[in-house]
Amino acid sequence: MGRFLKISRVVAAIVCLLLLSLTLTGAVAALSSPGSLIARMQILPAAMAFSMGWFILWLMVTLLLGRVYCSTVCPLGSLMDIFSRLSRKGSPGREYSYQMPLSKLRYIAFGIVIIAILADILVIVSLVDPYSAYERIAENIESPTIAAAHNVVAEAGQWTGWWSTPLVKVVITSFLSLVVAVVTLVVVAWISWRNGRLLCNTICPVGTTLGFISRYSILHFDIDTDLCTQCRRCEYACKSSCIDLNDHLVDGSRCVNCFNCVAACPTGALRYTTDRHQLSIPMMQRTRGRLARPTAITAGTVSGAGSANEMKQSSDKADISDETIS
Ligand code: SF4
Ligand code: SF4
Ligand code: SF4
Repeated sequence: MGRFLKISRVVAAIVCLLLLSLTLTGAVAALSSPGSLIARMQILPAAMAFSMGWFILWLMVTLLLGRVYCSTVCPLGSLMDIFSRLSRKGSPGREYSYQMPLSKLRYIAFGIVIIAILADILVIVSLVDPYSAYERIAENIESPTIAAAHNVVAEAGQWTGWWSTPLVKVVITSFLSLVVAVVTLVVVAWISWRNGRLLCNTICPVGTTLGFISRYSILHFDIDTDLCTQCRRCEYACKSSCIDLNDHLVDGSRCVNCFNCVAACPTGALRYTTDRHQLSIPMMQRTRGRLARPTAITAGTVSGAGSANEMKQSSDKADISDETIS
C-alpha cells in the first residue's frame, strides 16, 4: 500500500510538472488547456487574484489529507525532488536525518511576505512565491534551451539533407529576468541537493500557510510503536527531516506527503491513517483501550539494553538502497 501511494504521488507530480512546463514554454500548444488549469490551481497566484475558490479548496484538501499540494501540484516542489533525488542516487551515505524545525526563520519569512502583500511590494512576493519562481525558470531558462535544442536538430537535418524543420527564434525576455531565474535555480538546486525540502519549511509562504493546517489534518502519518523496530529507514527517507524517532512523532506541519516513509517502513509501523496514538514513551502507548504490552524491542530499548538495536540500525543504514529515497 505504501509503495502504491508513493508511486501514485510521483506519477501525479511528473504529469503536473510536464503539463505546466510544456504550457509555460509553449512547446506543445495542444497541451495548453490542462497546463493552464494547473497554473490556475496554484495557491498564491489564486489568492492574490482573489480567486478564492482554489484557495479554499486547497485549505480543505490540506485539512483532510495533509500537504498533497506540495507533493503533486507545486512545480517548485517537484523540481526540488528532482535535485534531491539526483544528489542521493547511488550515495548510501547521504540519507536524511531528523532536524529540529527552524520555526523562527519560517515565521519571520512569512511575516515579511504578509507585510509585502499589505504594502503592495509585489517584487518580494514574486521572489518567494513558488509558482512565480518556477514560471521565471521555465520562461527564461527552459524555453530558450528547448528552442536552441530544436535549432540544433533543425540544422543537423539541413546539413545531412535528411529532414527539414524550420528554425525558431530563441527569446530571452530580459537580461535581468534571466539573472534572477538563474540565481533562483541555483539556490533551489543547491539547497534541495543538500537538505531536501528545507526551503519548503522555511522560506515558502505557501508551505507555512499549509503547515498551519496540515498539523491537524485528518489523515496524517503516525508511528505504531508496537510495530516499530527503530530501524530508522523512515527517517533516512524523509526529505522534510521531520520524523523524530526519539518520541515517535511525525511533524505534520513540515510533512509534504511524499509517502517515502510509508514505502520504506519494513514492518508497517509507519501508516497514513486517521488514528493518533503516539505517546513519547512507547510502553505507555494505549492501543484499543488498553496499555500496549512492551515488545521485546521496546522493552530492551527502554531498559537500556538497546545496543543490539543500535547495531541493527547501523547495519540497516548501510543496507538501505536508494530506492527508498526520492
Ligand atoms: S512548500 Fe512551497 S515550494 Fe514547497 S512544495 Fe509547497 S508550495 Fe511548493
Ligand atoms: S513524514 Fe517525511 S517521508 Fe513521510 S510523507 Fe512526510 S515528508 Fe514524506
Ligand atoms: S521504518 Fe518503520 S520500523 Fe523502521 S523506524 Fe521507521 S517506523 Fe520504525
